[in-house]
Amino acid sequence: MISVVVPIYNEEENLAHFHQAVTAAMVKTGEDWELVYVNDGSRDSSFDLMMGLQAEDPHVVVVDLSRNWGHMGAISAGLRSARGAAVIIMDGDFQDPPEVLPQLVNGWREGAQVVVAVRRSRQESRKILAKLFPLFYRILATVSDYPIPLDAGIFGLLDRQAVDSINSMRERNRYLPGLRAWVGYRNAVVLYDRRDRAAGDGKLSFLSRIKYATDAITSFSYKPLRLCLLFSCLASCAAMVLVISTVISRVPVHSIGFGIAAAIFIVGALILLCLGILGEYLGRVYDEVRQRPLSIINKVYYASEVTVAASNSGFDSEEATRIYRVA
Ligand code: UDP
Ligand code: MG
Repeated sequence: MISVVVPIYNEEENLAHFHQAVTAAMVKTGEDWELVYVNDGSRDSSFDLMMGLQAEDPHVVVVDLSRNWGHMGAISAGLRSARGAAVIIMDGDFQDPPEVLPQLVNGWREGAQVVVAVRRSRQESRKILAKLFPLFYRILATVSDYPIPLDAGIFGLLDRQAVDSINSMRERNRYLPGLRAWVGYRNAVVLYDRRDRAAGDGKLSFLSRIKYATDAITSFSYKPLRLCLLFSCLASCAAMVLVISTVISRVPVHSIGFGIAAAIFIVGALILLCLGILGEYLGRVYDEVRQRPLSIINKVYYASEVTVAASNSGFDSEEATRIYRVA
């Protein structure tokens, strides 16, 4: 069986249509499947719609989270609840086109353990931020200490071993495309054209995107920290040159007041920047130390039997996936 994990936050306009499209695509693969909708604390009728879909279609599994945990939290919960021999992860807004699913499954059948869907083109011209994505991927590729494929988001297929490896990873501030590259295994790539969202607005706020980008960089690179060292070297060199040239040229101190003030501001700004960079890493270390779960599952509804997720740890994979079946 193949699991398709879809994080859902306020997607009532897309759900019914999306369900049909994914079902049609999975029928084409010739494999059995389950469709795991993760309700990430939706405030609209998404949850009722999912339960309605499940009443009609036994392929549907609904994972109901305790609140809105964000894209990565929802995907982590879906990965922990999925039971398939392979798991496809995709967004529920048609940006990851369901027509590509048979190609992902083919890649897996041909022996790939991780099939990454890579964007050949994008159709999100109306968003300024979307134009920055390609730039972000290039910056990440440059700074990353580990090679991460360009232009690949969460969309793709992982086989059971890769899913278990990712589930066993304990880090909280997750960048899935990076973790997927990091676990290794035999990889294959499928190219696709990224569409615009079918209906509704993007659900990720500007700040959460910045956080995601920062997670990506901090979890795969120490280079920003090394940048602080570079700043300190530059500032020390500049200071030495200044001191020496002041002594040699015998410029009266009062006439270099402006220069000194400017230097203090510049150095002050650099120090604060370095503190900010340190803070980004330190905050993430704090997240790790607290060991809070990635997300908390309220209930998992499998078709035909009402099932309740036993554990709210949402973290310890064995505990979290132990399911009590209610006859
Ligand atoms: N999503 C989610 N939780 C959130 C925000 C988004 O589960 O807090 C879901 C959303 O319903 C969609 C997917 O994650 O299926 C991607 O979200 P969105 O399309 O808003 O992100 P974008 O494609 O704009 O980056
Ligand atoms: Mg989207």
